Amino acid sequence: MFRRNFLKKLSLATLGTLGGQMIFSPYIFPFFKNNFNNQMEFSQENDLEDDAEKTSVLVIGAGMAGLSAARTLKEEGFKVTILEAQNRIGGRVATDYSLGFPMELGAGWIHGPEGNNPITPIANKAGGKLYETNDQSIEFFDENGKALSDESTDKLYKAYQKMIAELEKKYEDKEISEDISLADAIKKHYPQYANDAFMQYQLSAYAEFDAGGGLNDLSAIGWQGDSNFPGDDVILTNGYELVPNFLAKGLDIKLNCKVSEISYDKTGVEVTTSKGKFEADYAVVTLPLGVLKKNIVKFDPELPTEKKRAIQKVGMGKINKVALVFDKCFWNPKTQYFGYCSPVMGMYNYFMNTRTFCNINALVTFGIGDFGLTLESHSQEKIKNDIMNILRKIFGKNIPEPSKILVTKWNNDPYTYGAYSYCAVGSSLKDFEELGKSVQKKLFFAGEHTSRKYRATVHGAYISGQRVAKQIIDL
Ligand SMILES: Cc1cc2nc3c(=O)[nH]c(=O)nc-3n(C[C@H](O)[C@H](O)[C@H](O)COP(=O)(O)OP(=O)(O)OC[C@H]3O[C@@H](n4cnc5c(N)ncnc54)[C@H](O)[C@@H]3O)c2cc1C
Repeated sequence: MFRRNFLKKLSLATLGTLGGQMIFSPYIFPFFKNNFNNQMEFSQENDLEDDAEKTSVLVIGAGMAGLSAARTLKEEGFKVTILEAQNRIGGRVATDYSLGFPMELGAGWIHGPEGNNPITPIANKAGGKLYETNDQSIEFFDENGKALSDESTDKLYKAYQKMIAELEKKYEDKEISEDISLADAIKKHYPQYANDAFMQYQLSAYAEFDAGGGLNDLSAIGWQGDSNFPGDDVILTNGYELVPNFLAKGLDIKLNCKVSEISYDKTGVEVTTSKGKFEADYAVVTLPLGVLKKNIVKFDPELPTEKKRAIQKVGMGKINKVALVFDKCFWNPKTQYFGYCSPVMGMYNYFMNTRTFCNINALVTFGIGDFGLTLESHSQEKIKNDIMNILRKIFGKNIPEPSKILVTKWNNDPYTYGAYSYCAVGSSLKDFEELGKSVQKKLFFAGEHTSRKYRATVHGAYISGQRVAKQIIDL
């Protein structure tokens, strides 16, 4: 997603930054409690007109896909009820305020905010303050914390670009067709880069972070097959949650309503939840791919074999974030990002500086690819110490300890089980289409993982909700 955007537009002469993204963790309950109250208001705002004659739809999940579908269907006169397992809405758009600034636990960026990106106008209407993060503003450091010269980074950046473009072309021209991982393709065709630290950094911070999966899991054929909207990425400095909150206004949302079974036949759907059974004419299923993979929700009858296969084949990414707040700013407050050639692939290899858009001294770093999963088995103390060791190498031994830390654990989050979907070895772009196919014209599937073109993004989720709403309206 934004990484590819970045690579395309980055001027080699002014070799600059990365984009970034954000978080989720168990430490955010006070905030979600607040949010829960807001949601109660959403339900109470629901109009009281007699709904008995309307065609009814149950929407499972109040993330961007579910809210998008529900809002449009309600506007078209359908009776819509959203069933949401958590005590908040937004799903993977979740803002935490406990650190003194709006920390995005999940999505942070509106990627490509121009053109027809539907999120930008919603963010504007919702009162979002958009801030363009400057991708060119980055300082790079080697494994020992020594600043890298523009010359050497420039050279390797060109080599990286060339390698990725060549590989893509070889697959396009059918010169190679083997369905192997990106890691294996690089080892085989570009063995000279196997031990180059800066190349490994780029493969993690650009390829893995962009696509979501680890280098060993990404399909060398399909990992790049999605599209972008134009424009430089922006964040909402007053919180991304404004967007789902805006969409949720006036909708009937049942919170703490965990779905365990979805039955369907020609006459309609019946959904079993922790708050009892609900019936309707149709259901929109926006359960995240990670949840579908775990078979936690039973479908009766079972889903078609092709869909079940696609659920298993498409990958679910393992990105996590760690935010550290300090009493003092010991880095350049004007630099947007710091890149670090970590000896462990994906381990805290870049840092986003919040001082460019707020007055809190915070650095947000990431666990990417396989390390995104490993991080979740580490104690908070170990996570802090590992990051501080890196920061001491870069900024000196006398930097202060952080006063606050926040760690996300998306891979063990029971309502997501992962970060965002990617094209894994053995899967193809067609599998994303399969994930979005309706079943017996009763179950309609939306969610970021059902968007072949814009998977893994907020706009992809939103657009998928629009797609299923139209399918139901057109029946
Ligand atoms: C760390 C991270 C960083 C990201 N960064 C960006 C970014 O910068 N820009 C960007 O565009 N995208 C980003 N994304 C991706 C983006 O957040 C997602 O693509 C998008 O929000 C997914 O929306 P969705 O509606 O498909 O799923 P979700 O938001 O996950 O919604 C699904 C809903 O279903 C609910 N649910 C789950 N199980 C049940 C159940 N049994 N019963 C009832 N409800 C259930 C969940 O609680 C959730 O509310 C990021 C994601 C992560 C995790």
